Amino acid sequence: MANEQKLDIVVIGAAGRMGSLIARLVQEDPGLALVGAVERNDSQTAVSGLQCPVADSLAAVALPGAIAIDFTAPQVSLGTARDAVKSGMGAIIGSTGFTEGQKRELAEYAREAPLLWSANMSVGVNVLLRLLPQLAKALGPAYDMEMMEIHHRHKRDAPSGTALMLADAMARARDWELPEVRRSCRDGIIGERQDKEIGVMALRGGDVPGIHTSYFFGPGEIIEVKHTAETRENFANGAIRAARWLTGQKPGRLYSMQDVIFEEK
Ligand code: NAD
Repeated sequence: MANEQKLDIVVIGAAGRMGSLIARLVQEDPGLALVGAVERNDSQTAVSGLQCPVADSLAAVALPGAIAIDFTAPQVSLGTARDAVKSGMGAIIGSTGFTEGQKRELAEYAREAPLLWSANMSVGVNVLLRLLPQLAKALGPAYDMEMMEIHHRHKRDAPSGTALMLADAMARARDWELPEVRRSCRDGIIGERQDKEIGVMALRGGDVPGIHTSYFFGPGEIIEVKHTAETRENFANGAIRAARWLTGQKPGRLYSMQDVIFEEK
């Protein structure tokens, strides 16, 4: 049943690292109600303690007007977007690793339901998205730009969605297209670095929630801009802030965390 004056939330991937944290934060928040949890059948024992219906698809726990929060994988999140359209819900999607075609599909669903996707829900990274192009422009073409990211050993996609997002912002500042200038591997006799390239490198290990460092290598100096996510709470709180923001929005285009942070109020 819909909760009066509370924002109804359904968490998709509720047994996951992000999903379980979000489900807990939603239950602790007096302004929010956890009205459903979605998880694969073989992982549902991990969510049996939640005080809400649990199912293996959003369609089974959908509630018009509620917001789904989905941190799973691209194919699952596309299903969430489709079910959000069918059931009159909004959705916050944090999954990463979407292909260009899958992003276009997501944008199509956003024409019919309020949807927000961001590869990184933290305030810090979203502010960096604005700052890095300014740095790139101010420093000028004599400064070589590179990006390095570090994540926990379980992460499936590389480089991270955040690294691609930040590198894209750096590329655009020089009117470059990231897919044309991105180097994700340097191995062997590769010759000198080209002016028009951005290395995007990934390290994996341990339980690191996420470290991203943008480099500007200039003549006689190096500028490093580093963001460290110390816990996953900054992503989870960002997703919840985005859910509150999304309730006031109409469908039309795929929203991002930039809309939430810079256009709030
Ligand atoms: P995880 O593997 O711990 O969790 C994913 C969960 O989804 C698992 O519990 C899995 O069983 C569940 N799942 C898989 N298929 C499902 C299905 N069909 N239906 C329902 N549930 C299903 O992963 P994680 O570390 O929580 O990360 C999840 C995603 O979020 C990744 O793509 C990651 O890169 C991304 N992420 C984004 C941000 C951000 O700020 N946007 C932050 C952290 C992680």
